[in-house]
Amino acid sequence: MELESKVSIVTGGGRGIGRAIVLDLAANGADVVFTYRSNIAAAEEVAARVEELGRRGLAVRTDVGDFGAAQSVVTRVMDEFGQLDILVNNAGVNRDGVIWKMSEEQWDAVITTDLKGCFNYIRAAVPILRAQKAGKIVNITSINGLRGKFGQTNYSAAKAGVIGLTKALARELGRSSVNVNAVAPGLIATDMVKEAPEKVKEMALAEIVLGRLGKPEEVAYVVTFLCTEKARHITGEVITVDGGQYI
Ligand code: NDP
Repeated sequence: MELESKVSIVTGGGRGIGRAIVLDLAANGADVVFTYRSNIAAAEEVAARVEELGRRGLAVRTDVGDFGAAQSVVTRVMDEFGQLDILVNNAGVNRDGVIWKMSEEQWDAVITTDLKGCFNYIRAAVPILRAQKAGKIVNITSINGLRGKFGQTNYSAAKAGVIGLTKALARELGRSSVNVNAVAPGLIATDMVKEAPEKVKEMALAEIVLGRLGKPEEVAYVVTFLCTEKARHITGEVITVDGGQYI
């Protein structure tokens, strides 16, 4: 298996795209420590599925926006698993609204979770990856970070920030043989999307060349590939998984 004996961290792994990433990494041989925010039942189900796949799975309830907690998660992984090879920054939220109605809370919630959350885990993990001169970092952004979306100034700014972070970090870690890439999904069928207004979903669906919403696994397969040695000469890239939604 491609990821045999690798240890990974996935943020926001209890549901949706993160859940699919956790399960696909485990199916390819990796042990997975994942974080979640509040849905204990979902997280326990994912951890049990990882164990069924014959890998170690550990769910940690913690907010990605908490800098100190990110350091604690990484320290715990090193204490309990002895190594860290892969970091997938997936946790994200949206709090949509046009800018003239957007509250400070809406702005801060998205920037703190979607952008600072990536920094927090990267800052904790990078000293380990640099020292071992190996590692993979994959950040989940969005096509809306590439193009900007009406009603999502906060989310588009956070996701564009993730792309800038990815490219700058790829430059900083290249000589340490650490690959840093981003995956930009289009509309994927998860709880996040179920909450969107029907009209918004219909408009987005009309843009998708393949004529359907993506599935969480379809994002996960690309993330897993980027974490394998087959992708060792890819860094600083943003790979869209969007059925042609943003061509
Ligand atoms: P979901 O809302 O379905 O799942 C989000 C997961 O992240 C949950 O497990 C949730 O925990 C966790 N999470 C949320 N906030 C925090 C936090 N502050 N700290 C720790 N964990 C947290 O989202 P998706 O699967 O749809 O989205 C995953 C990523 O993909 C996000 O970054 C999103 O922006 C991005 N994306 C999604 C698209 C889509 O169409 N779905 C399109 C483009 C990008 P809990 O289960 O406890 O609530």
